[in-house]
Amino acid sequence: MSFDTILRNARVAGQEHEPVDIGVRDGRIAVISSRPNLIAQDNARDIALDGRLVIPGFVESHIHLDKSCISDRCSCRTGTLQEAIESVAAAKLAFTEEDIYARGRRTLEKAMVQGTTRMRAHVEVDPRIGLKGFRAVSQLKRDFAWAVDIEICVFPQEGLLSDPGCDELLVEACDGGADLIGGCPYTDSDPHGQIARIFDLGKRYDIDIDFHLDFDLDPSWMHLDEVCRQTAEYGKGGRVTIGHATKLSALDHAALDQIGVKLANAGVAVTVLPATDLFLMGRGAGRLVPRGVAPVHRLVSQGVTCSLATNNVLNPFTPFGDCSLLRMANLYANIAQLGRPEELQACMDMVTLLPARLMNLGDYGIAVGNPADIVVLDCADRVSAVSELAQPLLAMKRGRISFSRPTATINWPVATPSLEDDFRAGSFAEAKSLARSVP
Ligand SMILES: [Zn+2]
Repeated sequence: MSFDTILRNARVAGQEHEPVDIGVRDGRIAVISSRPNLIAQDNARDIALDGRLVIPGFVESHIHLDKSCISDRCSCRTGTLQEAIESVAAAKLAFTEEDIYARGRRTLEKAMVQGTTRMRAHVEVDPRIGLKGFRAVSQLKRDFAWAVDIEICVFPQEGLLSDPGCDELLVEACDGGADLIGGCPYTDSDPHGQIARIFDLGKRYDIDIDFHLDFDLDPSWMHLDEVCRQTAEYGKGGRVTIGHATKLSALDHAALDQIGVKLANAGVAVTVLPATDLFLMGRGAGRLVPRGVAPVHRLVSQGVTCSLATNNVLNPFTPFGDCSLLRMANLYANIAQLGRPEELQACMDMVTLLPARLMNLGDYGIAVGNPADIVVLDCADRVSAVSELAQPLLAMKRGRISFSRPTATINWPVATPSLEDDFRAGSFAEAKSLARSVP
């Protein structure tokens, strides 16, 4: 059997104990062999991974490309959610399609070199911005298809029933190919009315739904109940996600367990956005500031599909961001006080396997027949990846290398040959030259 690429001595996440060779042909994984018997023919790339970890890429289940990289256009003082919404709404008035494209491109380039291969981008639609964001991100989706599969979730950030003209634009975006629809009921004058309308559109276009929801620390009421109820009524189990859900961080374990049963039964997934939730929640506390991050690892054990995601990058919601989902897993582990090996592995799952399930990606995984989406991390297992923030060294999208970077060189005062020198001088040097030819 001939291959376009052979990755040798790779450790596949979840089966790290037994290194394998992976043969790639015509953009797909053709063979996974536990024995070093794959033969490279003529022009095949032959890449030695020296026991490094391979994953099918990180899956970004919630990011805003359209309002990324605008920190320099906003001046915030209180740091509250309300201020962030108002500040971005004001900045948004000056957005052009070209401007959104340029900032989104900068953010996407960061995500791809952090090893992200799949993404759900939330895009704002309303009478002020119109469809500029949708058109710009649609263009990015086409232009980055060689590196990242992007699905677009259009949503009304500033209200739907309270914002005349917004509904028509959402419909136009759905007619124009939006992949799914989202909501933000906490900014609407009629939250339940908005939830009902979003489910109505989800049914009409047969698309999945993803809400920004329950984004405060008051557990005495939740929109989550209504979303679970509507999910059952519309038969949308497995196709609905809620993001933030910071109210869940204010519940005791017994109450959280009850919510977990409700979410699992309804088939509603949860995405936690640790950087934003940490930055915006608890602003009123003078001391012992609450973390405000929903402890979703507890819900995972109840059968709820939960993911960790980036959300905002360099704007008033989150003035940070390198788009590293591995860093998000590390941040979550740190604030949720998770350190045992199985806990760190679970955090890795929440930026890989679980968001893939949340997005219903049936062809995700290092398995024969799947697209050759493969990311190499500079570590041997998932525990090291999360605890040490291992560098992504190379990504392959459908069999084509989309980026690579060398490992660091330590300049000892006395020349000392090392395995790292062999590694860099060999296969990765070739990969680097290939990456340069990327358009
Ligand atoms: Zn968001």
